[in-house]
Amino acid sequence: MPPTLAEVNPRFNVARRLLGWYARHRRDLPWRPPRDHSHAPINPYTILVSEFMLQQTQVATVIPYFRRFMDRFPTLQALAAAKERQVLRLWQGLGYYRRARNLHAAAKKIAADFAGRVPHDPAILQTMPGIGRYTAGAVASLAYGARAPIVDGNVARVLCRLHLIRRDPRRPQTIRHLWQIAEQLLPRTRVGEFNSALMELGATLCTPGDPQCPLCPLRRYCRAAAAGLQRSIPTPRPSRPTPLVRRWTLCLSRRGRWLIEQRPPQGRWPGMWQFLTIPPLGPRPTPSQLRSRLGLRISPPRHIGQIRRALTHRRYVFDIFTADVDGTIPSVRPRRWLRLDQLHVYPLSRPQQQIAQLLAAL
Ligand code: SF4
Repeated sequence: MPPTLAEVNPRFNVARRLLGWYARHRRDLPWRPPRDHSHAPINPYTILVSEFMLQQTQVATVIPYFRRFMDRFPTLQALAAAKERQVLRLWQGLGYYRRARNLHAAAKKIAADFAGRVPHDPAILQTMPGIGRYTAGAVASLAYGARAPIVDGNVARVLCRLHLIRRDPRRPQTIRHLWQIAEQLLPRTRVGEFNSALMELGATLCTPGDPQCPLCPLRRYCRAAAAGLQRSIPTPRPSRPTPLVRRWTLCLSRRGRWLIEQRPPQGRWPGMWQFLTIPPLGPRPTPSQLRSRLGLRISPPRHIGQIRRALTHRRYVFDIFTADVDGTIPSVRPRRWLRLDQLHVYPLSRPQQQIAQLLAAL
């Protein structure tokens, strides 16, 4: 069994090996300086945007969104001055829309309170909307070289394997322990590169199902690899059945225009726009039921299809109906009557985009 990292002067050995490997094997990503200009100045705003986008999302998915976002909002001031609808529209399809709202709110706060300069103190960064300990550490270390540790899913997996930690890494006690280890490992210099290297190792070699131990720069310190347990650490999350949620989507039309409304700022798809979507009121909607329950005066709804969408913790089934509207629509939310070719201005979740495609095909 190899010595623990604490027994082998971890800062020096781990950092040296990891940084050497990172210099040779790191991926060129649009928010990093190119490999041959690795000491070029880093724009903290690009790190801020990329870290928000990378929360719960893979690098390959993020790259095209990041490029479009930076084309449209090249500076923090441009983002702070944007309308929320524009920000959500660029985020459309990336999911977890609360991140977009939080990033927008953080940009506004930085523009107003910090003269547009992204703070370098992790404690101050954590006062921003949507910035927790991980994102604060990542921005502070990657953009400014601050000595701040990071623990995300990739880093947690690497540390659990290096230290042969068999406890569930999602438990608060284990999380605290992992943060302590990450802090102890930090080198005195090149902290941003070191943190990037640790994440890169987890993303490319120390992957969940197929760790590439023979290629790993830290193999000589890895207790899980020595014990042949690298594939079973960390313990997999116990699988739970995902609840099924049914919804009716009522696509209401009047003189060639369709009604859309904005979702509330909390909950699923916050601030996004949708065709009128409600929990089912019975086996299928009827004009009298919708009139008495929602105050809608509409023609008999016609079922035009069904859309299914599986998210991490829920599966959705949308039954889609069309109907003509007679009279006004009671609503407390912002709403618009639009032609289908005008919808592209409004941010729609993926199911709602699919519903719009169904309508276009009628
Ligand atoms: S030796 Fe294998 S299990 Fe250990 S850190 Fe490297 S890739 Fe991960």
